[in-house]
Amino acid sequence: MHHNTQASPPLFLPRGPDLNTPLPARSATGYPTATTLAELQANLADIRSRIDSACARAGRSPDEVRLLPVSKTVDEQRIRLIYEAGCRELGENKVQEAYGKWEAMSDLTDLNWAVIGHLQTNKTKLVARFASEFQALDSLRVAEALDKRLQAEGRALDVFVQVNTSGEESKFGLAPDAVPAFMRALPAYTSLRPRGLMTLALFSSDADHVRPCFTLLRTLRDQIRQDSPYKDQFDELSMGMSGDFELAIEEGATTVRVGQAIFGARNLPDSYYWPEGRAPQPETPGR
Ligand SMILES: *Cc1c(COP(=O)(O)O)cnc(C)c1O
Repeated sequence: MHHNTQASPPLFLPRGPDLNTPLPARSATGYPTATTLAELQANLADIRSRIDSACARAGRSPDEVRLLPVSKTVDEQRIRLIYEAGCRELGENKVQEAYGKWEAMSDLTDLNWAVIGHLQTNKTKLVARFASEFQALDSLRVAEALDKRLQAEGRALDVFVQVNTSGEESKFGLAPDAVPAFMRALPAYTSLRPRGLMTLALFSSDADHVRPCFTLLRTLRDQIRQDSPYKDQFDELSMGMSGDFELAIEEGATTVRVGQAIFGARNLPDSYYWPEGRAPQPETPGR
């Protein structure tokens, strides 16, 4: 047994052996940088066709899966190109970075910004102002602060509850067994519209270690739909990234968050965006 202080045994998932082995930096994963409209379009087309194939394998309709391009570290010029390629929503991990981009590109009035990274209460004001959705809700303190700010802005916000499905101690998100009680507390915050769950799977190239994270998130969502006040509106599963989105779709993902496979490898280490201890996935694109 590992010693996660949060998760309880029934929902325990095995820790992959990979976590003890240093892996290459994510920027070494080989995703080529897309700088032109044509390159971005080609990457988008490739990912959409892989989404289609994964849906076909799972007997699902591609209409059920939303591709959310993740544009963290991507500069304004390339963001304008992805907009030109037809994208109308982008995911950003850091609030400050997202807010700056929102301000700089306020002329693109139909471009929506999804905040998908951990939030501190002192940043809720910004999120309430510009975000189209918030995918990393994992504390009632943030729920309360965000609700207050949203009331002040006179708006409501779609939120996803982030769950730590991998058992990694360093990771953000609620322990799986804490989710039902969390959901029962959420109706107090009337400006939040809980839409579903979000997770980052274990970083491993071994599907046998990654898949259980996705299965767990789906199981939790189904469970919550039965006993929460949200029921039918609570249908989203945001899971899957560049290295594992096909697996996530096979397990029921409704939103996949894909950055590097669209824009190319990032220069910033992921430790800038995620808690220390997260190792990147040694995956090659286009497998
Ligand atoms: C960066 C990020 C992604 C996308 O990761 P890629 O490897 O670039 O596809 C997905 N989810 C979150 C929360 C992220 O911060």
